[in-house]
Amino acid sequence: MKANNLFFPFLMLFLLFGSCNKPIQNAKTQNDSIENPADQEVHAMEESRNTTTEILAKKQVPILCYHRIEYGRNDEYTVTPATFEAHMKILADSGFRSINPGQLYDYLVFNKEIPEKPVIISFDDSRVEHATIAAPVMEKYGFRGVFFLMTITHNKKNYMTDEQIINLSKAGHTIGFHSWDHTRATKYDIDSIVKQNVIEPKKKLEEMIGMPVEYFAYPYGLTNEKTTANMDNYFKMSFILSMKQDTINPLQSVRRMIAPEWKPQSLLRAMEKTFSRR
Ligand SMILES: [Zn+2]
Repeated sequence: MKANNLFFPFLMLFLLFGSCNKPIQNAKTQNDSIENPADQEVHAMEESRNTTTEILAKKQVPILCYHRIEYGRNDEYTVTPATFEAHMKILADSGFRSINPGQLYDYLVFNKEIPEKPVIISFDDSRVEHATIAAPVMEKYGFRGVFFLMTITHNKKNYMTDEQIINLSKAGHTIGFHSWDHTRATKYDIDSIVKQNVIEPKKKLEEMIGMPVEYFAYPYGLTNEKTTANMDNYFKMSFILSMKQDTINPLQSVRRMIAPEWKPQSLLRAMEKTFSRR
């Protein structure tokens, strides 16, 4: 979690995804008089978008957040491998189906169908056990997860390697972003910090996995009004933890719940309670 200022090998950027920074909700056609069919389709989609009020009225999808999965620690950011497996098992036994953030976005914005008992299983901080323990267990139960990466840690001890990240993406998991070095997003009112923590590392991550990175988890789960509004320029959706959802930018402040070392039944009860209110 600590910033390691000694490490950041700048590479030449190929700008492969330079045009992908703008999410579709901000897409606008420069010249409205000559429209090709693709532009017309974008406009039709724009018109069918839910309003902010409609998005806030949608039933919430439970979103779990895990950090460490290991034995020998006793804090709210850690579950044992046995507990993690028990959590996945009860979700599967209770009929939950994992969805990805893209499905959540289409459900919130375009009323697309999602499974009756949806869940998003997410992971913060790029820990190596996310690839070695969490992913295989999830896959055993037919789930796919969302991995929010803090990119300064790539290939470091106890953190995922580039290869592990690429393999997660290839296996159908979603690669999300969690800033370069875990600087609080409440400090993102300085352009250079946004450039260093979001814009440049996000591009590198996109080059690495070969696809856009469209979802963000705020470091510490915290943001403020200004940063929340600004993230709309870079991500389709961003995720918070224990703070209140922003009613002006609900898609940039989607709530998640930390899943601690709880018995499986307690987890289900907490999910029900947490996501039945705003
Ligand atoms: Zn974090």
